[in-house]
Amino acid sequence: MNATQVLVLNSGSSSLKYQLLDMPEGRRLATGLVERIGEEGPGRLVHTPAEGERRERELPLPDHAAALRAAGDELAADGLGLDSPGLAAVGHRVVHGGRTFTEPTVVDERVLAEIERLVPLAPLHNPANLAGIRTALAINPDVPQVAVFDTAFHTTIPDHAACYAIDAEVAAEHRVRRYGFHGTSHAFVSRRTAELLGRRPEEVNVITLHLGNGASAAAVAGGRCVDTSMGLTPLQGLVMGTRSGDIDPAVVFHLSRVAGMSVAEIDELLNSHSGLRGLCGDNDMREVVRRMDAGDERARLAFDVYIHRLRSYLGAYFAVLGRVDAVAFTAGVGENATRVRTAAVAGLDALGLAVDERLNTAADRGPRLISPEYARVAVAVVPTDEELEIATQAFALVNA
Ligand code: AMP
Repeated sequence: MNATQVLVLNSGSSSLKYQLLDMPEGRRLATGLVERIGEEGPGRLVHTPAEGERRERELPLPDHAAALRAAGDELAADGLGLDSPGLAAVGHRVVHGGRTFTEPTVVDERVLAEIERLVPLAPLHNPANLAGIRTALAINPDVPQVAVFDTAFHTTIPDHAACYAIDAEVAAEHRVRRYGFHGTSHAFVSRRTAELLGRRPEEVNVITLHLGNGASAAAVAGGRCVDTSMGLTPLQGLVMGTRSGDIDPAVVFHLSRVAGMSVAEIDELLNSHSGLRGLCGDNDMREVVRRMDAGDERARLAFDVYIHRLRSYLGAYFAVLGRVDAVAFTAGVGENATRVRTAAVAGLDALGLAVDERLNTAADRGPRLISPEYARVAVAVVPTDEELEIATQAFALVNA
C-alpha cells in the first residue's frame, strides 16, 4: 500500500485540531477538534469523517497525549489510525521557528531541542506544539514527523525590514527582531493568487492580507516575503479581534507609571482586551458591522480605526514592493466581510486599486478576482487553507 495520507496537527495550549488528508490531491478524510485539554472537568472531542456521521463525546483529557490518543481512536474507528500503513507523515504546525527554520523540517532530537530553545519567543505556543510532536512520536516512532513553522515564510525578509532600531547588542543577545507569523497562510495565498492571475509566483508581486481574529499583512515579491506586519510576537501590526497591533511602545511605560499596571496586566490588556473588542466591546467583525449599521458610534469608530490601519499598511507595502500586481484578502474577515474589502481600497484609484461591487458581494466561495477589468492591480479573495499547505509541504518533504 502506498502511503499517501498526512495527518496535520495544530496543538494549542488546551486544544488539538487535526485533519487527515489524502495527498497529493488534498482530499479531506477526517477532521476533528479536541478541547479543554488539561482543564478541570471533562474534555470534549468532535470528529467528522468525510463519509459518515459527525461524532461527539466527553472524556477525561489530562494532557495532550490523552487528546492525541483519543483522536487516534476516532481515526482508527474509520480505518484510518495513527498506525495505519497509509500514513506517510504527520505534519505539525509550529508557531515559532526563529531564524533557524527556514523550511519544513523532519523532526529529530536536534530539532526538538531547537524548538525548545525558542520557547522564550513563543511561551504559549511552542510548548503546546512540542507536546503534540512528542506525543505523536511516542505513538508511532516510524512515521516521519514534519514541523512546519509559521515564521518560515518570513525568514527571507531583509534585515532592513526585520531589525528594530534599538541597541544592536541587546537585540542580538535577546533575539529581538521581526519574525512575522501566519507564514503558512501568506505562502499559500500568495501562490494561489499568482495561479489566479495565470502567472508563476516568481513573476508577481502580491500584498496578502490575512484578516482573521489575528491579522497580518505581507509584502511578497516574486514568491519571497520581503515584509510583514507582525513582529517579535503576533501583537504588532494591524488592528485585530482582541489585539492592539501597533501602538507607541511608551504606552506601556505610561500605563505602568500612571495606572500602576503590572507587565502581566498590560500584556493581557494589549493581547486580550484591545483591538476591535477594546474599542467597542465586540471582537467579531459581523457584530461590529451590524452595530455600526444600527448607528452605534463606538462600533463605527472601531471599524474606522481597523480600516485606517489596514490602508496604512497597504500604502506602505506599495512603497516596499515598488510594483504591485495583486492584493489578496483571506481568513475569516478577509474572505467574508465585503464591507472591509470595499473600505480598504476605497478612493485608491491612483494606486490602481478598485473593487467591482457586483463581484465583491457575489456569493462565490472559491479564489476569485473582485476588481474591475480596467484596474491596474488585481484585487482577489483567496480562501486560505493552512492545513492543506502543511500537508503539501510535509508530503513533498518525505517524498523528496
Ligand atoms: P479566523 O480567525 O480566520 O477564523 O476568522 C474569525 C473571524 O472572522 C471572526 O471573529 C469574525 O470576526 C470574522 N468573520 C467570520 N465570518 C464573517 C462574516 N460573514 N462577515 C464578517 N466577518 C466574519
